[in-house]
Amino acid sequence: MISVPGRRAIRLPGRRTASLSSTSSISLLRTSSLASPTSSSCLFAMANTTRKHHSRRSIHSSERRTSTVADLPGTLPPIPPQDVAASNRAPLSVLPLSMILRSLATTVVSSSPILLPPSLRIMVALAHAKNPVLNPDMNPLLRFFLKKSFYAQFCAGENAAEVRATISRLKDIGFTGVILGYAKEVVLESSDAKDMAKANLGEETARDIEKEINPWRDGTLETVRLAEPGDFVALKFTGAGSLALHQLKNRLLPSQHLGESIDAICELARDRGVRLLFDAEQDMLQDGIDDWTMKFARKYNDSPETATIYGTYQAYKKNCPAVVSRHLADAQREGFTLGVKLVRGAYLGSDPRECFHDTKEDTDACYNSIASSILARQWSATVQGEGEFPNAHIVLATHNVESVRRARAICDAGGAKSDIAFAQLQGMADEVSCELVEASQSAQKENANARPLPVYKYLVWGTTGECMKYLLRRAQENKDAVQRTRNGRDAMWGELVRRCKSVVGMA
Ligand SMILES: Cc1cc2nc3c(=O)[nH]c(=O)nc-3n(C[C@H](O)[C@H](O)[C@H](O)COP(=O)(O)OP(=O)(O)OC[C@H]3O[C@@H](n4cnc5c(N)ncnc54)[C@H](O)[C@@H]3O)c2cc1C
Repeated sequence: MISVPGRRAIRLPGRRTASLSSTSSISLLRTSSLASPTSSSCLFAMANTTRKHHSRRSIHSSERRTSTVADLPGTLPPIPPQDVAASNRAPLSVLPLSMILRSLATTVVSSSPILLPPSLRIMVALAHAKNPVLNPDMNPLLRFFLKKSFYAQFCAGENAAEVRATISRLKDIGFTGVILGYAKEVVLESSDAKDMAKANLGEETARDIEKEINPWRDGTLETVRLAEPGDFVALKFTGAGSLALHQLKNRLLPSQHLGESIDAICELARDRGVRLLFDAEQDMLQDGIDDWTMKFARKYNDSPETATIYGTYQAYKKNCPAVVSRHLADAQREGFTLGVKLVRGAYLGSDPRECFHDTKEDTDACYNSIASSILARQWSATVQGEGEFPNAHIVLATHNVESVRRARAICDAGGAKSDIAFAQLQGMADEVSCELVEASQSAQKENANARPLPVYKYLVWGTTGECMKYLLRRAQENKDAVQRTRNGRDAMWGELVRRCKSVVGMA
């Protein structure tokens, strides 16, 4: 999940949001992306190759083991920015003016203490509107305004033609491709939750299949069809409804029809050359999500060249290094390719605090260390194992410029042994994404044999009304990541000034 919807509910994309009983700890969800500036003491493993044989513990050690900064590979000075950014000239110059202006408007509103609170209140009202006047799918004027502004900033399109046009525009700018998600979410009201509690949740009923599993399966299959070969599709297992939720929570295998539906999605994705990213969600569901991810990875990631199935690993969790190490050991032993989507994690505000590293710096250290180990295919104090490193493909899903630059430095130095992709949300951290695009284009201009840096933008598709809750979460995330939003605003403003100066011959 990109960020967590708020208010005592579980978001079931493609389906509905399940309100849970008051005792359930997954009920209080909050957007949790925080914008602490990345510490210069950030640890990093890649350049730490001399330590690679140190402190090898059993990869089978308890996943609940606490990793602290002291466990993570050694402190190194941060890479000087000029080493990685020197060749970059005006990265945002790759964006069309319309995108610059839209991003500037969005970040100005999101970083303004005066404009943001009323804007957020309006977004909340629109996202939860029952009144047709406030429903963008029923009010053409409202739809027109939203479609041209916030929707265009973050979303892919309402139908196949629009989605294809957006994908093609992004590719023309220089992005490698997209991560496509399906926005439709169905909200489970509290009466549904009571029914859920009474129902025999162990059994797959006709209602589960017709009302929950099939709509999720069909929406996801449609999304896989809309994506182009080489693109990714992001999906959440909880989108398959209350039965899936129950099974994940209790670490049960998917029931028959649900299992067959996931198989159908995986088969279509593999046939089309589309890769599937299974989102990470709340802690109480994550072991179940990992079980399902590995089940399908074993089946579909049988080629060393590519991975169809990617699990998501949340570096803010203390058990993340152990989970990554265990999954790599499984891949090594059983001969399949591990697909790793590495995020910091979006449930800081709702999951139990003891799950997480004690500080943001520890999370950063964990993130960078896992990224470098997998990228360089080297065991480390964080990612522990023995013997040959298994085939692994990694997606670095982050807006953190330091993590991105550090990974890029490994690629630039020819140290990347695993397949890598960088991913940011559409409409966010464009300065980070465009720095990668620009660097890649510059390197290829200088040397036609230079390997391009694969950069992807994540977007959702669906009608304007269906995307409202996603848009609300983006607004909330921008509010929480104040410093990053301001950086984005300043970068867009700087680019606008640069273009004006170049028009009058001052640049
Ligand atoms: C393409 C994409 C896909 C994503 N998919 C998922 C997903 O499937 N599941 C999911 O959970 N998230 C997902 N996310 C969100 C992600 O987990 C982060 O919440 C978000 O990207 C912000 O983190 P960052 O790496 O960009 O950098 P930053 O802004 O530098 O880091 C912010 C993050 O640091 C961590 N953090 C902040 N303060 C502390 C603290 N005091 N102690 C410990 N840690 C702290 C939190 O994770 C916080 O979100 C995705 C993000 C992207 C870009």
